[in-house]
Amino acid sequence: MNLVLFGPPGAGKGTQARILTEKRGWPQLSTGDMLRAAVKAGSTLGKKVEALLTKGELVPDEIVIDIIAERYDRPDCAKGAVFDGFPRTIPQAEALDAMLAARAKKIDLVLELKVDDAVLLQRVEQRIKEGGILRSDDTPETLAHRLDVYYSNTAPLLDYYGRQGKIVTVDGMAPIADVTRAIAAALDAKR
Ligand code: AMP
Repeated sequence: MNLVLFGPPGAGKGTQARILTEKRGWPQLSTGDMLRAAVKAGSTLGKKVEALLTKGELVPDEIVIDIIAERYDRPDCAKGAVFDGFPRTIPQAEALDAMLAARAKKIDLVLELKVDDAVLLQRVEQRIKEGGILRSDDTPETLAHRLDVYYSNTAPLLDYYGRQGKIVTVDGMAPIADVTRAIAAALDAKR
């Protein structure tokens, strides 16, 4: 099964993607993690994207489309994958559909984690209180910008996938275990 975990920054996509990987074996394909790894490694790609990540700007579509295609063609994705933080723009979603279609695959389900902006802000503040700033873009100021970017570029995908009848919405403000259960129910209903 190929799934998209969809939602604003800090909605819990990464947490749920990791749980899905552990329970169902579909790898988590997080473009954010891949880009942060490139920055950490100091690669050419990393140098190109570092400032964009810190500012909370999107990196160019071609870059993320390329890294996703390369990652998806690894054998561990044969039974499916969990897309986390990708796609984030309409061109990315179109490229993903085309990439999957060329491999006789498709997106089976889009799980939308719905979380109010005020709760997202509280979560950043809590993370900073507990652990300090672990990610250059995990500050209240940058979150506000990432939310703007989310609403202008990414939220329109709800329409795109809604027209395809693929969205299941889950309350992302519920406790983690409840979100996991709601996702499991949506997956079981799909089988
Ligand atoms: P994330 O970990 O998903 O919140 O992503 C962190 C940052 O990586 C984003 O704020 C962007 O700068 C960049 N990024 C991650 N995924 C994408 C994507 N699909 N398109 C463009 N930029 C992305």
